[in-house]
Amino acid sequence: MNKILKRVLIFVGVTVGVLVLAYGGFYLKIRSEVSTFTPMETGSIVDDVFVVKDDFANLFLVRDKDSGKYIVIDCAIDQASVAEQMKILGIDPGDVSAVFLTHTDWDHVGALSLFDNAKLYLSKEEEPLINGKRSRILFLKNAIPRTDYTLLEDRQVVQIGGLKVEAFLVPGHTPGMTAYLINNRYLFTGDILSLKDSKMAPIPPFFDMDTAQAIESSKIIRQIPTAEYLFTAHWGYTDDYKTAVE
Ligand SMILES: [Zn+2]
Repeated sequence: MNKILKRVLIFVGVTVGVLVLAYGGFYLKIRSEVSTFTPMETGSIVDDVFVVKDDFANLFLVRDKDSGKYIVIDCAIDQASVAEQMKILGIDPGDVSAVFLTHTDWDHVGALSLFDNAKLYLSKEEEPLINGKRSRILFLKNAIPRTDYTLLEDRQVVQIGGLKVEAFLVPGHTPGMTAYLINNRYLFTGDILSLKDSKMAPIPPFFDMDTAQAIESSKIIRQIPTAEYLFTAHWGYTDDYKTAVE
């Protein structure tokens, strides 16, 4: 074997080895952080709010009393498992009229295709992550299987039947991370914060694109006076918003 070929082979071997180790380390780090998550079991939470558990993520459904239709907040990880859990709840994905994404990480968009007939909303600031303009981490980009979405401004209000949905931009975890306040009472916070003993706490910084900004944004979450319930995507919920944000 000539010298140049030998050097090329060594270089390729070392590069592949480094990539495999980096990927393996990254995967193990994610699994160990995720093992600390405390998602809720599938079921009814309060009045017209329902939750689906998919591995370490929760998807929420809110029923519109007027029409009997639902809106969904975030789409968890796996389409088949979400479909199965919705069957347990007795909710037909065809009865979902709108989907609101808090952000576009893979554990929040996995079952999006179950709701192809629903209108899709996400924040304007999140779009660069899904249209290829900005990476999520290194060379990795987020993706969703649809382009027919409606982009929301900070504090924009959308009325879906009898449900009033207000968007609060809370960047940091991702640039377009958005919390949704429904009918002035139910606050869905995605991944901007976790709950520890029913109190607001930061999420593991490993997952944030900008932790300092996320901490700054959490102040916005503390200043929503009409909120009563606070729901997170991986750490459960509380029916005592005031105590949680004290
Ligand atoms: Zn998440």
